[in-house]
Amino acid sequence: MSTESDALSLAEAAARDWLAGLDTRSAGASASFDSLYARFDAPLPEQGQLATDVVASLIERAQGGLQGNAGGRFFGWVIGGVTPAALAADWLVSAWDQNAALYHVSPIASVIEQRTGEWLKQLFGLPGDSSFALTTGTQMAHATALAAARHRVLKTAGWDVEQDGLFGAPRVAVITGRNRHTSVDRAVRLLGFGQANLHIIDSQADTVSPDELDHALAAHGGPAIVVLNAADLNVGGCDPFATLIPIARRHDTWVHIDGAFGLFATVSSQQRHHVAGIELADSWSTDAHKWLNTPFDCGVMICRDAEAHRAAMTQSASYIAPGEGARDEIDWNPEWSRRARAIPIYAALSELGRAGVASIVDRCCAHCANIVAGIGALQGAEIIAPAQLNQGLLRFPVTGDDDAGDDRTEQVIAHVNASGEAFFSSTTWKGRKAMRVSLCNWRTGDDEVERAIAATKRALAAV
Ligand SMILES: *Cc1c(COP(=O)(O)O)cnc(C)c1O
Repeated sequence: MSTESDALSLAEAAARDWLAGLDTRSAGASASFDSLYARFDAPLPEQGQLATDVVASLIERAQGGLQGNAGGRFFGWVIGGVTPAALAADWLVSAWDQNAALYHVSPIASVIEQRTGEWLKQLFGLPGDSSFALTTGTQMAHATALAAARHRVLKTAGWDVEQDGLFGAPRVAVITGRNRHTSVDRAVRLLGFGQANLHIIDSQADTVSPDELDHALAAHGGPAIVVLNAADLNVGGCDPFATLIPIARRHDTWVHIDGAFGLFATVSSQQRHHVAGIELADSWSTDAHKWLNTPFDCGVMICRDAEAHRAAMTQSASYIAPGEGARDEIDWNPEWSRRARAIPIYAALSELGRAGVASIVDRCCAHCANIVAGIGALQGAEIIAPAQLNQGLLRFPVTGDDDAGDDRTEQVIAHVNASGEAFFSSTTWKGRKAMRVSLCNWRTGDDEVERAIAATKRALAAV
């Protein structure tokens, strides 16, 4: 047992060291693929090793290969960090090793999940009698929501999809905008709709236009599901829900919202206007592991139509004892055995409260605006998209040569990232390269913003 205790102590010391170094360490991973690969290039060991040796060796060999998104100087993708209570709770989830499949398999995981779902609905202002699922991420939240939608729209069309599958069923169109996240496409494929039935509204605007949605729904005529965006991960664009959802309703469709991070705008009185009307939808996906700053993997799906949701997901097996009115998670989730991921979400919500979540959202949006404006004011920089919510785009153009501007943009980003002072990812927006500024971390403050702007200024002078 002392080995166990020593292994945990090693892990704790390394975790403390990692967190203590977030301000000073490189904001991005620094080791090359070759060097990382070489560290692990060994056959399966025939004999085991002491746990302490395994952990010590892992800690050593991870150096340089760890991305700095737990810290406040990481502005790549839309990732987020971890709050103290969520992190500590997540350690307990592993130590307790509960299987959050059924109430009887882990009573406490079930009860905490039940409460966490209620809190999430309250946090986002969504209907109190909605059902919910806690999934690995938004990807599987989409799959769960669209399975519920598939049940409902086909049932309305007189088809039992759980029983009869999709062969011979009425064609279901999934209608969405061009700035959707590709996880929507994969959910559509997984559920058997097929990419060919994903109708992309190719609006010139960055969001779905009411006329085009109305037209697309009328043109299809049959059962349809509409997937709207809150928000897109380049420019933070939110579809105009208050206008679009009533149109979708008139056509008797299901509306699903990709709110991976944008659903959190509902929590902030300053940002809520971006997502007005979002509560009118039928289902919503979001991630606690993004703006709520829980560890991975904490996705959330909330569904107005509990009956359709349960019908799409429920599993009954002879060895399942009924849960005495308690929640059996397998009735709502696309998984059997699963991590008790409600526990870190519960911990983060308890630690922050509604006000704390709103404060993270507001701070991230303000810091995003400051970074975009600060870098945009530098000689040689151009703002492509001013900050909206926690996203914004910049570019480092070369006069009269768009390709050279693409190269320069990539070079500036690479230079900033190599400095270790900040980390940005690049993106392609309207066919051109851009620096994406994305903020999701509770740790980002004015210092981190200043360091990012200063590092970009140095990069612009150097490339
Ligand atoms: C991150 C993201 C997703 C995918 O979420 P996962 O948790 O990675 O599955 C989907 N949509 C948007 C808008 C996102 O930002």
